[in-house]
Parts: sequence; C-alpha cells; structure tokens
Amino acid sequence: MSYTLNQKVSNLEPYEPISGHYAIRLDANESFLEIPEHVKADMLSRIANLHLNRYPDPLAAGVCERAGKYLGVRPELITVGNGSDELLTLLTQVMMSKGEKLVYTTPDFSMYKCYGYLAEVECIEFKKDANYRIDVDKLIDLIQSEGARMVIFSNPCNPTGVGISREEVLRLVEGAPECLVVVDEAYMEFWDQSVLDCVENYDNLMVLKTCSKSFRMAGIRCGLAISNPAVTNALRAAKSPYNVNSMTQAAAEALFDYPHELDSATQTVVDSRDELYKAVKALAGKYPGKLSLLPTSANFVYIRMPAGQAKRIFEAMKAEGVIVRCMGDCLRVTCGTEYENTEVVRLLEENL
Ligand SMILES: *Cc1c(COP(=O)(O)O)cnc(C)c1O
Repeated sequence: MSYTLNQKVSNLEPYEPISGHYAIRLDANESFLEIPEHVKADMLSRIANLHLNRYPDPLAAGVCERAGKYLGVRPELITVGNGSDELLTLLTQVMMSKGEKLVYTTPDFSMYKCYGYLAEVECIEFKKDANYRIDVDKLIDLIQSEGARMVIFSNPCNPTGVGISREEVLRLVEGAPECLVVVDEAYMEFWDQSVLDCVENYDNLMVLKTCSKSFRMAGIRCGLAISNPAVTNALRAAKSPYNVNSMTQAAAEALFDYPHELDSATQTVVDSRDELYKAVKALAGKYPGKLSLLPTSANFVYIRMPAGQAKRIFEAMKAEGVIVRCMGDCLRVTCGTEYENTEVVRLLEENL
C-alpha cells in the first residue's frame, strides 16, 4: 500500500505568475508607484522596534484602528488577513458548509471558484452579459431558486474593469436576504461606488479590501474583511490566531498613518489609467475590428480582440520585455508610468 493524494487536489496546478525579469511589468494590477522614502523609513523603524520573539496581536488592533479611521468604519467590524486571498479561503470554509451553494460570476477573479472547490461547496456560475454587466434581477433569481448561501464578485471587476453601481449592489443584498453577499472592492479606490458604509445595515453584506493595489503594498500581504458584528465575530473566531505577522502589522499601521499619501497615490494611478484608456481607445478607433474596450473603473484596461490575436500579441510583447496578462481573447493591461504606458501602446499598435 502506498500513499495517494486526496482526489480533489491530485490534478491541481500551483498558481504560476509569469516569472523572470521584464523591463515593463503591467500584468498583476500592482501599483507602479513605490512607497515614498519617508514613509518607508517610518515603517522600517517601527519594524526595528518589534519584539519578534513574541507572537503578533491576533486581532491586529493597530491596523483595524488606523484602517478603520481611513476607510470610515468602526475598527470592531474589521478582520485583518494575510492578504485578502487568505480571507477568501476562510470565507468559503467558515461561512459555508460542505455541499452548500456558492454563486460566482464570469468573467471575474478566478480564485473564488477555486477556493469554493477546495471547501467542497457547490460552485454555481452566473454569466455576465456581453458587456460584462451583472443583471442583478437575474442574479437574485438564481440565488433564490438555488438557495445559495453565498455570492461573491469583485466590484469593479478584475479582469473587466466594469463595475455595478452602489444602488445595484444594495438591491442585490436586499433581494437575497438569506445569502451572504461578498463584495470584493480590491479596486474601489479607483471608483466611487463603495458599499462599505452600509455593512452595519445588513445581516448579509461583507466587503473585502486589500493593501495590494491602490495602497502600494502587494509585498506585505494585508487584506481586510468588513462586515456586521455577528459575521465579523465568526470570522475572527475561525481564523488562525496569528495569521498576520508583526512586521506586516507594523508596516500597515505606518501606511495608514499617512492618509494624504494614500489619496495622492490613488489620484496619480487614476490619471495614468485615464491616459492609458485614452490611448488604447484611440487605437480602437484607428483600427476598426482589431480591438475593442469598455470604460474601466479600475487601474487597468481590458482589451478584446478577434480570436487568436491576444495570445499572439502577448507573446510579441513578451519577446520585447513587456508583460501584460493574456486571458483567452483578451489582454488585461495594468496602467503604469507615462513611459510604460507609451511603450505598451506602441507595441500594441506595432503588432496589430
Ligand atoms: C488583487 C486582488 C485581490 C487582492 O489580493 P491580496 O491577496 O490582498 O493581494 C483580491 N481580489 C481581487 C479581485 C484582486 O484582483
């Protein structure tokens, strides 16, 4: 007799981001801005003063307090995670039982379904319309008829950049009162339709935030789940006690102590996004039928192309040291510095 892998993991492949050195990386929706030197110095001095022989604060109270102040929510409603990815894993395991139904939308962030699969919940797909919009009435019908326990989507959406309005999200929350509605607002800094201020008005609303995008800290791994006290207490009780290390906590505390830096970084990225969008939109006008795109509310553009073209152009750009994300017949391009935007648009046009 020999050991065999658990069947559900026997064919899983580890997530492999594109590795290697590339002159321009616009593939992962990170911020192209570095943390300012004086903020970094503050972070490092706080880290230098930590007692690393001791366990971290299980509730990351310092992060909750500062993030809560910046985001306008009570610290008691925040659960801090080792990136929002950790919180996503927890959610399907903790808030759902084996065999219960999770509704996810397509196209959207692919990890939702993956974590649901690992938690052995039944994953039910809801397809968006041709313009990547969620028809909220149809989604409510699906949730209600299936008796789904959770629905999760990103707003605005990764990879499409399309969002649904705050009113629509709240209509969903109210129309599916027995289903936990998880709104992943990883990119909401770049838009203005957050429902974060409403978490206490409902039993069934949770908002996820991350320090990885607008807050420029993908490397420290810090995510936030915000919900009402009952849901928050369950999540806090079920997470592993020391899930967020003290260095991450110290860095995140320092980050939120510079709210003006956060605001100005967001504005710089929005400006870059607008420039990139304008330039790609101009290409779409100049080369009809070769590419199309919808307005974006995130820090990237999502470009649709005729069959086979996206992959070819992706490879051509890669050969020139420029990395974007290829997803089927679409390219997702994160906005970058002025130089990076110009280069990616130049290569795009050259290869059309
Ligand atoms: C980038 C991203 C996150 C953030 O994940 P972290 O683990 O916090 O880095 C979450 N959700 C979506 C949709 C994202 O695109």
